[in-house]
Amino acid sequence: MNIPIINSKRQYETIAAKAEKAVLDVMRSGSYILGVNNKEFEKEMCNYLDVKHTVALNSGTDALHLALRALDIKDGDEVISTAFTFVATSESIGIVGAKPVFVDIDPDTFNIDAAKIEAAITPKTKAIIPVHLYGQPCDMDIILDIAKRHNLFVIEDACQAIGAEYKGKKVGTIGDIGCFSFYPTKNLGTMGDGGMLTTNSQYIKDRVLALRNHGGAIRYHHDEIGVNSRLDEIQAAILRVKLPYVDNWNKQRREHAKYYNELFSKCSLIETPKELDNTYCVYHQYTVKVPNRDEVHKMLADEGIGAMIYYPIPLHLQKVHAKYNFKEGMLPNTEKNTKLVLSLPMFAEITKEEQETVAKTLIKCVEKTSVLV
Ligand SMILES: *Cc1c(COP(=O)(O)O)cnc(C)c1O
Repeated sequence: MNIPIINSKRQYETIAAKAEKAVLDVMRSGSYILGVNNKEFEKEMCNYLDVKHTVALNSGTDALHLALRALDIKDGDEVISTAFTFVATSESIGIVGAKPVFVDIDPDTFNIDAAKIEAAITPKTKAIIPVHLYGQPCDMDIILDIAKRHNLFVIEDACQAIGAEYKGKKVGTIGDIGCFSFYPTKNLGTMGDGGMLTTNSQYIKDRVLALRNHGGAIRYHHDEIGVNSRLDEIQAAILRVKLPYVDNWNKQRREHAKYYNELFSKCSLIETPKELDNTYCVYHQYTVKVPNRDEVHKMLADEGIGAMIYYPIPLHLQKVHAKYNFKEGMLPNTEKNTKLVLSLPMFAEITKEEQETVAKTLIKCVEKTSVLV
């Protein structure tokens, strides 16, 4: 049996009739950019997240980089974040010319270790970007408290965590700005690229509205260098069809996570994900830690199980940041966990039988490789 890490086609089949009609309606309307679907989707997301403003954009990467632009973060500034994330997080810091300052992770949650943030603050620090990795909320109370005491902005990278909650509040609405991605494999994914920035500040919203449309709020009046980062109407229409399902999809992901935990409870070599108290984790990924990870990964692939490593190289050791001369060993928990993590097939539509096959195969591979060494 082949079990991919995500089966987007299976989800598509559940919404095909509605999505196809929505796309046809857009094509027939003649309005393709910044039309009614953008406006309505932005409103629907304000309601869904319980936030004052949302700005639809072309990607989550643009949400991050325009967040930094809107806060006037630039060359000479420092931004604190994690190296255990997708490259877009630190890339966005680089796009505006600022320096990423990486803080180690908490090995239980894979998220930035809030207790280590304060030591990384310098007079140049302007913002913190916590990433709710794998759909697991960061410990926001501690982060907000540090930010407040040091006068720093908080930009939440919620690209993997739509619908996740911290103490009853949706992530992406807790800091100054939230950033979301609608890349097809995200928990709310469209059929192309898409992203969104959220904020309760009218000033930030207005800045981002201008920045996304060539640096001017009024057509053909340009006040600063902006970008072209609009969500096209076809993607907005698809997202409007899918948004009402996202809570149920997240609920199903949580049930699947619970079932995996149960299936793995009989194998002490496999460490299952932990959840912080008072959080609602949405399992964008279901990520375990296993010994002999690379070998196990390869064996799973040979058996048709689509496990993935998110992410194989931490960002401080990526060539893109070579000019900062970050050293191996400076983020021990990040580096150690990079070598242990393995994300397993996880999507709302996965069946119990598929999960049982994944679990049985993984346990077999882990036990086999552990006997060999
Ligand atoms: C997907 C992702 C992004 C970037 O989103 P795009 O829409 O692909 O640009 C940023 N940060 C994290 C943590 C992500 O998972």
